[in-house]
Amino acid sequence: MSLFRKTLSSLRGGLGRTRRALVGSLERLDEVDLEAIEACLLEADVGAGATEELLDDLRRAVRRGEHPSGDALPEFLGRRLLARLGDADRSLALAEAPPTVFLVTGVNGSGKTTSIAKIASALLEDGHSVLLAAGDTFRAGAVAQLDTWATRLGVDLVHGSDGADPAAVVFDSLEAAEARGIDVVLIDTAGRLHTQDPLMRQLGKILRVIERRVPGAPHESLLVLDATQGQNALAQARHFAEAAGVTGLVLAKLDGTARGGIVVAIQDALGLPVKLVGVGERPADLEPFEPLAFVEALLD
Ligand code: GDP
Repeated sequence: MSLFRKTLSSLRGGLGRTRRALVGSLERLDEVDLEAIEACLLEADVGAGATEELLDDLRRAVRRGEHPSGDALPEFLGRRLLARLGDADRSLALAEAPPTVFLVTGVNGSGKTTSIAKIASALLEDGHSVLLAAGDTFRAGAVAQLDTWATRLGVDLVHGSDGADPAAVVFDSLEAAEARGIDVVLIDTAGRLHTQDPLMRQLGKILRVIERRVPGAPHESLLVLDATQGQNALAQARHFAEAAGVTGLVLAKLDGTARGGIVVAIQDALGLPVKLVGVGERPADLEPFEPLAFVEALLD
């Protein structure tokens, strides 16, 4: 069993319990059962829209004389959840000619720095050279935290002085990457609260610098969300989506929550695919997001 499957087993909860309650004891789904299922889906943070549609589907099935209770229930819901997650491209885009540039955003505490270290570690393992750019010049300690990871992983770090213009640091990092023949540049950014307009303007400026300096970049704009934040993560995604031109999500701390349904809610609301999931604090604790394994674990 992969680590991913093992950690996702922590998501097994409400729906599993409902299914077990239904197994054997019921031949028909009645309104009370449907309400219990609805509560489980909402609790798992699948979102109001998806929950309503899934329940409508179930009611229609019941009216047709099908009664997907017991073992058939997770299969019925799973098929539909999987269809909602669709076949989005969840791979990370690498440039044809280096440097590949990944912009990484997210509010403070979401797991952004750790996720950057994890992505760097995975890239190194794949044989790519990596440079980290310390674009968070605002938060005291942000550069030091990134520097610690850079040293630990043995990769280059480009940073400015405290309070330096982040866009200038980003520009310098791209110059350095080209001069040193680095494959992938991972750009850390400030993560003050999303309600602050200046942060969004700063992200816009960084984006323009990247686009001008490396045509076709950024190749990915990854927003890191804390899976334990539930619907709050969705609100954050809305704010960052446009300002940072987000192309995919990294859902950190999925090991610490039974509310992984937020993956479905975010993709429904914003059409943004979760590409990677964080399942622990170590550099190796990063997994590609696999819809089938995810849905199975959510409903098992
Ligand atoms: P940042 O402020 O967004 O850069 O957040 P950090 O990367 O510093 O992470 C905040 C805290 O969350 C740290 O204690 C991390 O070790 C922890 N963390 C980050 N990702 C994960 C994860 O996938 N699982 C768990 N359990 N903890 C994580």
